[in-house]
Amino acid sequence: MPQSAAIVGANWGDEGKGKIVDWLAASADYVVRFQGGDNAGHTVINDLGTFALHLLPAGVFHPGVSNVLGPGVGLNPVSLLAEWDALMARGVEDARLLVSDRAHVVLPLHIRRDVLEEERRGSRQFGSTRRGMAPLYADKALKIGIRVSDLFDRAGLALKVHDLLTVKAGDLAGTDGASVEAAEHPVDTLCQLSPRLHPWVTDTTAALREALQQRAAILLEGQLGALRDLDHGIYPFTTSTPTLAGFAAVGAGIPPHAIDRIIAVTKAYSTAVGAGPLVSELHDEMGASLRRMGGHAGEFGATTGRPRRVGWFDAVATRYGCQVQGATELAITNLDVLGFLDRIPVVVGYRLETGVLTDMFPLTGDLWSATPMLESFPGWRTDISDARRFQDLPRAARNYVRAIEQLVGVRASIISVGPHRDQTIMVA
Ligand code: GDP
Repeated sequence: MPQSAAIVGANWGDEGKGKIVDWLAASADYVVRFQGGDNAGHTVINDLGTFALHLLPAGVFHPGVSNVLGPGVGLNPVSLLAEWDALMARGVEDARLLVSDRAHVVLPLHIRRDVLEEERRGSRQFGSTRRGMAPLYADKALKIGIRVSDLFDRAGLALKVHDLLTVKAGDLAGTDGASVEAAEHPVDTLCQLSPRLHPWVTDTTAALREALQQRAAILLEGQLGALRDLDHGIYPFTTSTPTLAGFAAVGAGIPPHAIDRIIAVTKAYSTAVGAGPLVSELHDEMGASLRRMGGHAGEFGATTGRPRRVGWFDAVATRYGCQVQGATELAITNLDVLGFLDRIPVVVGYRLETGVLTDMFPLTGDLWSATPMLESFPGWRTDISDARRFQDLPRAARNYVRAIEQLVGVRASIISVGPHRDQTIMVA
């Protein structure tokens, strides 16, 4: 029976969700992005090559899959078209895309506002990827946003943009003296782009309802991770949308009970891009080694190229991440990366500034001064990237997986031992 699954991050993002979605999409009918925008960076490596996806769902490499940008997505039409064209130029064929007519549109002023706010904050920056997400979703909540459906009604669009610019005038003028006129007026540009978007735009909520009636298999592709969730993450060092599976139904436009599986993806160690507390962070030579060996080409952001902060696997943060995600199963990625270690430390508790020991994930304020309590496990010191069955893994690697499952309280159903689509183990 076809099943629908949310593939979401258990950590701070960059867990390898893109790889897992690309792999699972072989047996899916739809892959749906439900939040965020082109601030995502999913690396996918398959027989067609190495790709960094930003806005497009990771089902685009499967001709039979319909890829959906749902109502919860923040859509930058310029970057969507650029990403699409780049993919087509590299020989990706028969990709199918549907764009929700309800999705909100990123305008140049959102990006400008994002950049200005980060610059204003100086050393206290949020670590924004500067794609305009926070201002976009703020305007959505203020009910002055522009939706994809507005792009096909020039007069209505001009009025809405005028309203938006009027509200934003003080905002933009206050920061660097720029007037509203100086903010690039987007109506002409949007109207020029709209004919290219038109064939993709539809009521995706209705399309998915019909797909579910026909028992289609739907993957919901999360962006970032639980610890960057707007409500449950390390606020204010979060993203500006909910990253949790609970929101996937809302942002995609399907009933909550249609989601059968919640696959929380975690790395076998920790990485984070951007600002905010990271208790497990390694600032030493070991950190530099993990950064060099991690991912498909070292731990560097797929969207920004920024070096990722790295640390040992954090069981406190990941258990919490799985709890708020409602994980029914775990996908552990980058297990191969740890093959150079004699022993592998794992964070099993935090010592708070007050001296209190805890295995509960505290508020952001307490995280800054928390220090990690470590337990270490034997390494396997061998290359495991050719393993395709759980029993092919060395005993120490299997034990490490079992230890993570125990600490986190969720069984692993998928283990990734390399960045390529095929370097994947299904655990029976
Ligand atoms: P996402 O945003 O969650 O899709 O993650 P990213 O693509 O931003 O980052 C994950 C990184 O890990 C990328 O460099 C992937 O190519 C890489 N990756 C994913 N799974 C594995 C794995 O099992 N082993 C290795 N070595 N790299 C992996």
